[in-house]
Amino acid sequence: MATKTPVKKRKVVRRKRRRIRKSVLYGLIGIVAAIVLVFVLTTIPKLSTDSKLKGLGYSKESIAMIKKQKLTKTILNDKLYSDNLNAALASESFNKDYLKLYLVTDSLNSDDTQLYERLRARNYPEDSCLKLFEKLNFWEITPLLVFDYVSDVEAYIQDCTDHRDVNSENHFELSGKYVNWYDSTSASDAKDVSMIVNKRYYLGESYAPEDLVQLSLTYAAKDCYLRQEAADALAAMCDELNGGGKPKMYASSSYRDYQYQVDLYNGYVNSKGEEWADSISARPGFSEHQTGLTVDMAATGAQLSKFADTDAFVWMQQNAHRFGWILRYPEGKEIITGYSYEAWHYRYLGVELATKVHDSGLTYDEYYELYLR
Ligand SMILES: [Zn+2]
Repeated sequence: MATKTPVKKRKVVRRKRRRIRKSVLYGLIGIVAAIVLVFVLTTIPKLSTDSKLKGLGYSKESIAMIKKQKLTKTILNDKLYSDNLNAALASESFNKDYLKLYLVTDSLNSDDTQLYERLRARNYPEDSCLKLFEKLNFWEITPLLVFDYVSDVEAYIQDCTDHRDVNSENHFELSGKYVNWYDSTSASDAKDVSMIVNKRYYLGESYAPEDLVQLSLTYAAKDCYLRQEAADALAAMCDELNGGGKPKMYASSSYRDYQYQVDLYNGYVNSKGEEWADSISARPGFSEHQTGLTVDMAATGAQLSKFADTDAFVWMQQNAHRFGWILRYPEGKEIITGYSYEAWHYRYLGVELATKVHDSGLTYDEYYELYLR
């Protein structure tokens, strides 16, 4: 008997231990099961979203951005994908406001989005903007900033497409008429040398710059005036071209006051009518010459109208912007500037702005509307 008691006790202890072990085991199994369940519930949808996005063509970096920007639903619901969007998503410059623009374009930079914003600000609907960006080049869209509002965007796109054989960044013509000059005009913001004066923006009858200086006969014809800054820039430009030798070109005309333009314009109208006068001359108040920042250049010994055939003009094409001047009415951009080609007419903008305009390939009318207005 005495030997049986410890055995019984041991059995009881063992059973108790087993019970404890079992409950610990079940507990552990429960915890593991819960962990597995949570893992499965959270990972499987993630895996399936990832694989769906991957299936559309998105890279790992793009998928991370799609999730960060909360675009998963938008993209998966409409199965949105383009190589450009994929590349944009993986870059730091991605902006989800332009999601649809990325989809319709091959590339999108800050100039494009700036143009898009300007069109939207001019009340072009989103759909119209997307069509324009899908079908046209940048330089085919920028003239719209200068033109009157075009309600039939499809027709405009067709017109541009029909002229692809002759049009380029340097030449732009269309069959339709997209602007009625002088129809809607407003006063120029004449605050600094970037001021614009064209057939939309005018200067008042009383506007005259305060810092006009008479130009030396080395650089200009008799009785020519410019604003101080422009006068200095003209002298520096002519000096470099002349290289210490005889003057090769000079300003044949510069500042003109309002009344001068009244007489000039009326003279043209009386001789050949308003339409012709408008094609070669500005109406009073609409002449850039009234800014005191504009010159008509002539090569020494050559007629003004022959400036395009001179070496001085070739030099100006390459160098004018380095001194702050731009060719204001280029050949092939007549429907944008509203003026016939004038190889001799230059506008002072300061070196920095003139260089930017020159490099953009845009007319100043487009550049102003796109970046400065
Ligand atoms: Zn001129």
